[in-house]
Amino acid sequence: MMEAYIWYKNGDHPEDNCTFIGEGENKFLSEGKVVRYFRDPGIPGDELCSRCDFFFTMHGWIDKPCGGQMVCPGDIIIKNAAGEWEAYHKDREYNNKRQMESVKVCQDTINIDSK
Ligand SMILES: [Zn+2]
Repeated sequence: MMEAYIWYKNGDHPEDNCTFIGEGENKFLSEGKVVRYFRDPGIPGDELCSRCDFFFTMHGWIDKPCGGQMVCPGDIIIKNAAGEWEAYHKDREYNNKRQMESVKVCQDTINIDSK
């Protein structure tokens, strides 16, 4: 059976293993183990994502052997054949583009490594 989870916010993935840190008003959920925080110094957090119209601060991130993958709120996280978690967006065209980008990151990494 394929494992699939819909992700909206930090801690939604059952393998995120989030715990509460701090107490009272300062209490917050620790960063997810599967879907991490999306933080890119080149992208302001208060900017809206053109794919989902949510702020970038509301996005997640999945680490990959080469680079990683941004997760939009509402994306479905599935376990692929290699046993890695992967985000799927409802926009098929965007998925293809995202797939191509991560392959490119992978190839760039290999090129750097082999030099
Ligand atoms: Zn988005």
